[in-house]
Amino acid sequence: MLERGEVANSWRRERWDSLRLLTPNWQSRLPGLRYQGPDQDGYMTAGEVTDFIERFAAVSRAPVRTGENVTSVRRADDGYLVTASGGQIACRAVVIASGACNRPSVPRFSGEVPASVEQLTPFDYRDPAKLPDGGVLVVGASATGVQLAAELQRSGRPVTLSVGEHVRLPRTYRGRDVLWWMDASGLWDQRHDEIDDLTRARRLPSPQLVGTPERATLDLNALTATGVELVGRWAMVRDGRALFSGGLRNVFSLADLKMNRLLDTFDEWALTSGRDAEFAAPERSAPTRVPDSARLQIDLGSGEIRSIVWATGFRPDYGWLDVPVVDAKGQLQHEGGVVASPGLFALGLPVLRRRRSTFICGIEDDAREVTEHLAGYLAEN
Ligand SMILES: Cc1cc2nc3c(=O)[nH]c(=O)nc-3n(C[C@H](O)[C@H](O)[C@H](O)COP(=O)(O)OP(=O)(O)OC[C@H]3O[C@@H](n4cnc5c(N)ncnc54)[C@H](O)[C@@H]3O)c2cc1C
Repeated sequence: MLERGEVANSWRRERWDSLRLLTPNWQSRLPGLRYQGPDQDGYMTAGEVTDFIERFAAVSRAPVRTGENVTSVRRADDGYLVTASGGQIACRAVVIASGACNRPSVPRFSGEVPASVEQLTPFDYRDPAKLPDGGVLVVGASATGVQLAAELQRSGRPVTLSVGEHVRLPRTYRGRDVLWWMDASGLWDQRHDEIDDLTRARRLPSPQLVGTPERATLDLNALTATGVELVGRWAMVRDGRALFSGGLRNVFSLADLKMNRLLDTFDEWALTSGRDAEFAAPERSAPTRVPDSARLQIDLGSGEIRSIVWATGFRPDYGWLDVPVVDAKGQLQHEGGVVASPGLFALGLPVLRRRRSTFICGIEDDAREVTEHLAGYLAEN
């Protein structure tokens, strides 16, 4: 196992200070290791995740070689030639487990933002003190965007949040964590070959969730109640102005509709599994409030916005992979983790083999199945 940094590198270096997992502690499980503490329903801090993964590396006795940056993997004879900081390795098979979130995704028009406005990605952001005083424009309303918007608003900076397509979820539903329902109802176990539109499922943004001791819901209504201003999707920059799409009403109704459909599925599962009586009565959140008049543009040169935080998602980085298996959008082409090049496999990507694949609790089943393919490949060849 070659790791360019240290064990749990992404959790050490690429997360902001206040980040906690949005998955509850009881969902933090790796093969042979699970959360053992007293707060099963709590959410780990990034530091606790680092400790957890370090402990796993120790108990699993994983043969990790740290400080080994892989700069090239290419086909050679009947296998691959891997070039890393420590030298070259010839091998018959390679498992790509380099992560789905190596780089922040930032729209090209960020280059047209006036230099007077500071720009940050979640990789640069640590805490609000890193930002200048004054207005902040947070772009993107998925897990990262809503969490950073809430934190920046609490710091006393006026926050404007640019909202595109998003996944709204309540933190708890009928007395249980919403992710408990995803787990219990079997939805998270839905397999890649059972999903109608797999490309879409793989591109779905992260849900609007935060892990706090209060198990608070962090949706757009919660944000506007604290004074955050909502604007539409940021479409372009023209003459130093940020131009936003209209139609927030439609964007909000779609997210509300999808959330309610998901909750309907949970209710149905509770009934058909005979467990309905165990839970509080079904409930529905108030629809997302549409602002009376959402602004369609902001003059970035006016001094109102002093900084921009791009919470517009993350992407993998395969710059080191010299095998033609990455598509024009930079995504690895694979079928359930089996890459279209003999002996090449992948793990840890969105909906790799099931909906839970990209979460810590998703790796065990995926790794077992991909390993079976790998063992079969080695036996045949
Ligand atoms: C902001 C954020 C919040 C998240 N919250 C949750 C959550 O609440 N619950 C949850 O279950 N999951 C969460 N995730 C997903 C989480 O990242 C994964 O569950 C887990 O970290 C994935 O582990 P991984 O090993 O597949 O990828 P990563 O953690 O990305 O690890 C990949 C490793 O590969 C190394 N690497 C990459 N390229 C090379 C190279 N060329 N040479 C050598 N080494 C290389 C990196 O240094 C890194 O250590 C979150 C992700 C992000 C970005």
